[in-house]
Amino acid sequence: MGRVISIANQKGGVGKTTTAINLSACLSEIGQKVLTIDIDPQGNTTSGLGVDKHAVENNVYALLLGENTIEECIIETEIENQSLISSDVNLAGAEIELIGIDEKEYILKKAISKIKDNYDFIIIDCPPSLNMLTVNALTASDTVLVPIQCEYYALEGLSQLIHTIELVQDRLNPDLNIEGVVFTMYDARTNLSLQVVENVKGYLHQNIYKTIIPRNVRLAEAPSHGLPINLYDSKSAGAEAYRELAQEVLHKGEEEWQ
Ligand code: ADP
Ligand code: MG
Repeated sequence: MGRVISIANQKGGVGKTTTAINLSACLSEIGQKVLTIDIDPQGNTTSGLGVDKHAVENNVYALLLGENTIEECIIETEIENQSLISSDVNLAGAEIELIGIDEKEYILKKAISKIKDNYDFIIIDCPPSLNMLTVNALTASDTVLVPIQCEYYALEGLSQLIHTIELVQDRLNPDLNIEGVVFTMYDARTNLSLQVVENVKGYLHQNIYKTIIPRNVRLAEAPSHGLPINLYDSKSAGAEAYRELAQEVLHKGEEEWQ
């Protein structure tokens, strides 16, 4: 049965999409069957995995509105073992279009339950907000992985995110766990990054991944080539880090899920 992991943090620019793309690709590289679901209207995970978001009609918007089945929305990317449900800007209107729909929080969960057995991992990239799209993702997930950028305001908003996760646990998905926190954009040349890591560790009583994602320009360049980091620059520090994170996610799951 596939593990469903949401990548969530309502702050923008903390590395959610970069993590969704590259964790997915580094898991598929080691033979895991991965379905990545882009539920951010920006569609950057879609293009980062080499898919033209404008060319796909059956995307996550059509899925949420009940226009297509999940099977109809899954695309096979050029990357081995890597499937995708794409997103585009229309998704921004979905929240309003879903008003009054019964059990709208459960739409993604119900859809995923039909195909969960076909994958080892289902990775959902959330938008930078705690809206109905993120609630759908959290309701559908086994765990939530929280990227935290190593910057001065790292802790800001974190208590709000944890509160939302607790609300979802109470009311919609009692089985939701926090997968862990991963630090991103770590800059070894500054004391600030180190301080942020120490601060967050002191404040959060959650699992924190040993892998820390460094600030690496190759990670920022890769999406414009429509490639994940392991295919864009296999030997870069960014590729090494996301491979290490994939191993941690894989083995942590084996320990906990057996
Ligand atoms: P989010 O999805 O949380 O908004 P992104 O993954 O889109 O964040 O990252 C924001 C910006 O920072 C993007 O331009 C991305 O390319 C860049 N970025 C993300 N992670 C790194 C990193 N480790 N090193 C360098 N640039 C990064
Ligand atoms: Mg994003």
